Amino acid sequence: MSAKSIFRHTLHKIEQHPGAGVTFEAECLWCEWKAGPSTGGAAVDFAWMSHTGRSGHSGFRRVCTSFAMVYVPSGGPYGSSGQRTCRTRSAR
Ligand SMILES: [Zn+2]
Repeated sequence: MSAKSIFRHTLHKIEQHPGAGVTFEAECLWCEWKAGPSTGGAAVDFAWMSHTGRSGHSGFRRVCTSFAMVYVPSGGPYGSSGQRTCRTRSAR
């Protein structure tokens, strides 16, 4: 008996994870100072500007994180926007 692989195309969609927003963080490029994560980008910006005022450090790594998920519709094809196809592989 030999193993078989089957390739098939599956419609899927990538969307923002429900209940999860975007978070913002900042890290100083000159010391160990960090801000966040926070859902308020302005609050993180204010924190790093305050750090600049105290330390003179002006370089930061700004990180924005978005949580997403992929799902496959069970009730038929999508409209044309946001539609993707990919090949999935399952072994028999
Ligand atoms: Zn610093």
